[in-house]
Parts: sequence; C-alpha cells; structure tokens
Amino acid sequence: MSFLELTDVTKFYGNTCAVSAMNLTVEKGEFVSLLGPSGCGKTTTLQMVAGFEAVTSGRITLDGRDITHAKANVRGLGIVFQSYALFAHMTVAGNVGFGLEMRKLPKTEQRERVAQALALVHLEQHASRYPRELSGGQRQRVALARALVIEPPVLLLDEPLSNLDAQLREEMQFELRQIQRRVGATTVMVTHDQSEAMSISDRVVVMEAGRAMQTGHPHRVYEHPETRFISTFVGKTNLLPGTVTASGARTHVALGPLAVQVDGPRFLPGTAVLLSLRPEKLHCVPAGRIDGQVRERFFLGSQWLYRVGTAVGDLMVLAPNDGRDALSEGERTGVDWPDHCMRLLPADETAGAE
Ligand code: ATP
Repeated sequence: MSFLELTDVTKFYGNTCAVSAMNLTVEKGEFVSLLGPSGCGKTTTLQMVAGFEAVTSGRITLDGRDITHAKANVRGLGIVFQSYALFAHMTVAGNVGFGLEMRKLPKTEQRERVAQALALVHLEQHASRYPRELSGGQRQRVALARALVIEPPVLLLDEPLSNLDAQLREEMQFELRQIQRRVGATTVMVTHDQSEAMSISDRVVVMEAGRAMQTGHPHRVYEHPETRFISTFVGKTNLLPGTVTASGARTHVALGPLAVQVDGPRFLPGTAVLLSLRPEKLHCVPAGRIDGQVRERFFLGSQWLYRVGTAVGDLMVLAPNDGRDALSEGERTGVDWPDHCMRLLPADETAGAE
C-alpha cells in the first residue's frame, strides 16, 4: 500500500463534476505534481486530501488509515497556498510558530523548531520582520517554513510559486526541490505550469476535465504522451494527420506524400492517427525525409525556432544556436528526424490504440 492513496475519488459541486474517479498513489518522500489547465480539478483534489472539501464518493488513505471523512485538523497536513496567507500582524517567527503554539508545544521546543525551520529556508536573519517587510520570494519561504515546522506527514502545495516573477520563480523551484529532498517531505503540488511540474517532480499526473489522464515520470510523459491533449499540454509538438496503411511489427502510416513506419502502440489499418514530432527532435538538413522552405524564424537565444513549410504541412523545428549563421527566411531546406522520435496518437481519442 502506498503512503497516500486516492481511490475513485469523485467530487460534485451540485451538478458540476469537478473530479471524476481520480486514482492517485504517492510514496513516502515522493514529490508528485498535479498538472493541468484551469478548471480541471487540481485544487479540488488537493482540498479533498487536506480535508477542506468533502469527498462525494471514493476513498482516501494515509499511511494505511482511512481519512476520507477525517477533519482537516486531525489530518494535520502542511499546506502552502498561492496567496501564502501569512498573518500580517505577526512577525516571521510568529507566523512560522503559529502551528506549534496551537498544538501547545513547550516554548523552548517551539523556539528551537522555528529556528530550524527558518534556517532551512535561509530566513534566520529575518525572524523579527513583518510580512510587509519581505520580498515575494521571502514570503513564499515563510509560508513553506510554516507548513514544514509542524513536520506534516504530507506537504500540499497549491500553485506556491505563481505570484513570483519568472526569474525568482525558477530559483525557488530548485530551492523548493532541495528543501523537500532534505526534509524527505511527501509532497503533492498543484500547478498549471508544465515546465515547473516537470523540472521538480518525481512524477506528474496530467489532469483534464476532472480526470487523471496520464501519470508517470516527467521524461516518460514528455516522450510518450498518450493523447493529443497531453502531447500539446506537456511541451510543444508538431501533429501531422495520417492514416494507418499496414500494421505489423511497426505501424505503417501515410502522411500525404510521406510514408513512415513507427514503433510503439499499434493501430488497425484505416485508422486516422496523428504523428507527434517534438520540434527539438527535427533537424534542418540539405536533404532529409521531406523538402521545405523556411517561412519564419525566431531567435530564442540558445536556439532558433524555424517554421518550415513542407508537403505535409508546416513543421516547427527547434535548432541549437551553434554561433554560426542561421537559415534565412525563404531559404530551401530538408527536414529530417530519427525513427525513434516518432509517436502515434489516435486522431479520435475515443478510438485508442489496439
Ligand atoms: P485553476 O488552475 O484555475 O485553479 P483547478 O484545476 O484547480 O483550476 P478547480 O478549482 O479544482 O480547478 O475546479 C474544478 C471545477 O470545479 C471547475 O469547473 C470549477 O468551476 C468547479 N468548482 C470549484 N470550486 C467550486 C465550488 N466551490 N462550487 C462550485 N463549483 C466549483
């Protein structure tokens, strides 16, 4: 049995199904992210784990105990919200120690644990400041220290970094991961930012319309998305419509004038499919699988992004900036890619692979 388990957890608000038969397992010490677009049910799932929202049906267990109907304060989970929700009239130390005070721990133990938690987030120097005297990143760290100080069995993070500017957010992502590893905190984070989820999680759960669509290591989900939605939500991709012409050890697909053979899930001949090709897997070469012409180019610093018009449609190609001259707009080029980078997805998601 896993440390935290959700089994067929469903939540209705009136007639609205916010979460539908959600299954999730989280191992002790693991960092799992719920990733998905706005309104897909991420926050509702987290709130049900925290005990702030009642479960309509299904079961939640923590360390083998059924907590489906347990009160939030009995669960005692650590929570960090997007808004941080710090107490403005309390100092940093007061905010961090609040949970310990509520639990009526001896004063000396409270002081020790607050000092340890502040050291963990590098805020020892700011213990007597008020939240208004801190930067966004510092406030975020106070909220994290406040959640960790009670040594919760599970740490729940709801878009904890979304109020920070891009650079600070990136720094805090790595800091958050380091702190989580150091403490060994079992963590569930909600985010709609796919790069954030992928860079710091052991596993991601991609949600769509109240359902968990795919769960796995970030690299696995990125390389082997199971649906069109996942292939475009987790990273960017070129999707080329095609038809399966034969199915053997590999699936033969006709993409207009181009024929390819693809490994992986098999589809029946005649099935409408989409070939997913990640832009960074494509190369502009003098003679490739298909000829094309650069329609647009964008300089991204470390890379060039080309939009190349071809007989199978426009292809986005992401090429490293090696310091040499880039292809010009209007220039003719071939486009090539290795066999192992091709993924087939069902065009009609209700059909699926064989
Ligand atoms: P976001 O990224 O925008 O926060 P989310 O994935 O966290 O979205 P939820 O907040 O879990 O999504 O909402 C899931 C669905 O449930 C949405 O359709 C939302 O409108 C609905 N919903 C959420 N809370 C309530 C509520 N208290 N009453 C009624 N409907 C709600």
